[in-house]
Order: sequence, then structure tokens, then C-alpha cells
Amino acid sequence: MSAAFSGSLAIVDTDDGQMIACQSCERPLVATGQPWKPNAAVKELPMHGAGGGAYESADHVVLRQFYCPGCGALLDTETAMSDDPFLNDVINV
Ligand SMILES: [Zn+2]
Repeated sequence: MSAAFSGSLAIVDTDDGQMIACQSCERPLVATGQPWKPNAAVKELPMHGAGGGAYESADHVVLRQFYCPGCGALLDTETAMSDDPFLNDVINV
């Protein structure tokens, strides 16, 4: 059984308990209550120039894309300073 809680993630019941999973393929990423982004596939792209003038001097700003390691579905994105840790989402049920 699974329950969607965003456009890309769901909570699934597994033998190891409730897990955060990809909504498309239901591949578990991490137990609920733990940050899931460290277990996703991550691609970082420079924001320099991507958003017009506002980003022309922002060499250190990146767009992070988090993908499902099972099916490749895009799960989430965030913009951040390149040295910043992930903006972790923790889902408690
Ligand atoms: Zn998937």
C-alpha cells in the first residue's frame, strides 16, 4: 500500500516499516523520519545566467535536481549556494 504526499513522493509499507518512496516506481528511499535527499541521485547545474540578470553574478548558486535512482523520475529541485547542505525534507507520519 502507498499514499502519495507530494507530486513525486509517496509513503509505502515495506517489511522494514514505512518508507519514503518514489511515487512512480515505489522504490524506497529511506525510512520515514529521515531525510530522503541523500539517497536520491543528484545533479547540480550552475544558475549563472539561467534566470537572466538576477543570476549573472551568482557563480556560486546552483540548481540541484534530485532523481529517483530506480526509474530516473525527477523528485524535487532546489536552488542553493554550492557549498550549502541539502535543504532536507523530513516526513513524519
Ligand atoms: Zn522511481
